[in-house]
Amino acid sequence: MELLFLGTGAGVPAKLRNVTSIALKLLEERGAVWLFDCGEATQHQILHTSLKPRRIEKIFITHLHGDHIYGLPGLLGSRSFQGGESRLTVYGPKGIKEYIHVSLSVSRTHLLYPLEVIEIEEGTVFEDEGFFVEAKELDHALPTFGYRVVEKDKPGVLQVDQLKERGIQPGPVYRQLKLGESVKLEDGTELNGEDFLGHSIPGRVVTILGDTRVCSSAVDLGRSADVLIHEATFNRDQEEMAREYFHSTTKQAAETASDAGAKLLFLTHISSRYAKESWEELEREARDVFPDTYIARDFMEYVIPLKK
Ligand code: ZN
Repeated sequence: MELLFLGTGAGVPAKLRNVTSIALKLLEERGAVWLFDCGEATQHQILHTSLKPRRIEKIFITHLHGDHIYGLPGLLGSRSFQGGESRLTVYGPKGIKEYIHVSLSVSRTHLLYPLEVIEIEEGTVFEDEGFFVEAKELDHALPTFGYRVVEKDKPGVLQVDQLKERGIQPGPVYRQLKLGESVKLEDGTELNGEDFLGHSIPGRVVTILGDTRVCSSAVDLGRSADVLIHEATFNRDQEEMAREYFHSTTKQAAETASDAGAKLLFLTHISSRYAKESWEELEREARDVFPDTYIARDFMEYVIPLKK
């Protein structure tokens, strides 16, 4: 489970920061990559990484502002050219279906893989045996979602040695015990699977928010998250501007991370008005409130450590 920032700028592309896109690499967990937003030239950014578009299984769009979606039709088309055959699902607010349909149909782009587009509402937008993803509406100039990606706890490993010591040989019994079920042996002994399982491995939580003003949904989504990714379009002194333009300051993002009890905060969606020399200052402002803050940069990677 690894984050790769493909674009960390706000509004318009800049030389050092492309517009928003974040990849969550789940290669070990599910052989797939999930993308969050797809600003213009995201596929150009991908060319500088080892990421393979055919590996992209899901794309979660936070909102329909151009700097978050103008790279989508191009990427969808290229994925087809580059041998992508597996299903791709795009999640996003109402309107995402029309946007994709119109872009692909007027340009006569034919995809060689099944594409599913799901217009979401608040709640669980995806769930399988390994993960679930929850969405909540944030406070921005148009409908905008934040996503909370939750890796489910993994059951502990079956303590085979213990079973063998007791003379229980591998077979269907092992399978049942592995599921934590109770099993009655032929001699009448009853075994409880829970007694033969090692510690379960707690899943990790990553919260990726779209553009937003300070709001309670952001705190809810980021609750105890291992990583919270929050926009910081303005510096500490620009609270009024942030409010007017439906964005957040560095300090406000840090306060949200602190209120949520998140473990780590990445600030992204950094305006090009802040030159490279001032990035450290932005980071420092946030660290006054939430010490474990980092300003994301394009191509920065972060491996989310396994929990004990
Ligand atoms: Zn926006």
